[in-house]
Amino acid sequence: MPLIEFTDKGLYCRAGGFYIDPWRAVDKAVITHAHSDHARWGSKNYLCHHLTKPILQLRLGDNNYQGVEWGETILMNDVKISLHPAGHIIGSSQVRVEYKGEVWVVSGDYKIEDDGISGAFEPVKCHTFITESTFGLPIYHWKLQLTIFNDIQQWIRNNQSAGKTSVIIAYSLGKAQRVLQAVKEVTTNIFAHGAVWNTQEALLNTGVLSPGLLPEIKRVTADLPKDSFKESVVIAPPSADGTPWMRRFAPYSVGICSGWMQVRGNQRRRNADAGFALSDHADWKGLLQAVEATGAQKVLVTHGFQSAFSRYLNEAGIEAAEVKTEYGDEDEGLIVTETNTGETNNLSGDD
Ligand SMILES: [Zn+2]
Ligand SMILES: [Zn+2]
Repeated sequence: MPLIEFTDKGLYCRAGGFYIDPWRAVDKAVITHAHSDHARWGSKNYLCHHLTKPILQLRLGDNNYQGVEWGETILMNDVKISLHPAGHIIGSSQVRVEYKGEVWVVSGDYKIEDDGISGAFEPVKCHTFITESTFGLPIYHWKLQLTIFNDIQQWIRNNQSAGKTSVIIAYSLGKAQRVLQAVKEVTTNIFAHGAVWNTQEALLNTGVLSPGLLPEIKRVTADLPKDSFKESVVIAPPSADGTPWMRRFAPYSVGICSGWMQVRGNQRRRNADAGFALSDHADWKGLLQAVEATGAQKVLVTHGFQSAFSRYLNEAGIEAAEVKTEYGDEDEGLIVTETNTGETNNLSGDD
């Protein structure tokens, strides 16, 4: 029996009696991060990073939550569990599972570059590595965050000189906070959609975000006069894009922040004026780098381009297989997978 099995409820460690990011309600769930496709409602006990705990509490209500530090070891039966930074969003963690000398690591979602908010990705040695593959094609190659931030800032300045509002589309938990680090260098006149505003308030009120790290944002409300948005920046989740809610900002320009913006066609299909390929996931090189750093003999590839990525690994001499999961619809907002490449399905990403 493998240490971690793929069951209809999710990734299951039989020896330890727990699931990792289960998609059905279970008794014991270990959670990598607070995005809704990884942290689902209904389980009895949740174990997660202490920064993830308050977000789970807000999103999933009262349950039994246990928050741990990165690197702290927890025993379930005779199985050792520890969490390690995944660099994806605040509190996001990889899960290390050890039993009788065998080590498995479940990546959750991860990103290699340190974005200043999410913690720095830490490679963890293991025998078997279960990796995501959201951007597991060679065409996905990210620019440095600093370079993308410069692009965003220049775009905002151009909009300001044209008398336009800059509407930035970024999902509310993760991307929105990240992009505000760039925006605050250009303006203090920043508005946010309710979903983004609520998330930031919650992160501040629970102490997950330290005050002062991010600029103050004003909530967009119906009573605000139209000219208050003039030349400002508005942060909105993907679900708001293209809806009548946007009309009040006219004249405006829309910039989408998502790894999918690396592909020009996606920007066109979304009717965006600008696309910034700012992703909270590893790019192709990042995935390879992460796999290599684990030293794993076996790699199991989940949500994303799992067949392309596992095929490549096999050809490179690393034993790999693809595995079906039910992850992948909150964070990048626009989902393109192998089954629907070339088409955009409905935007999710709101919460
Ligand atoms: Zn995620
Ligand atoms: Zn994911």
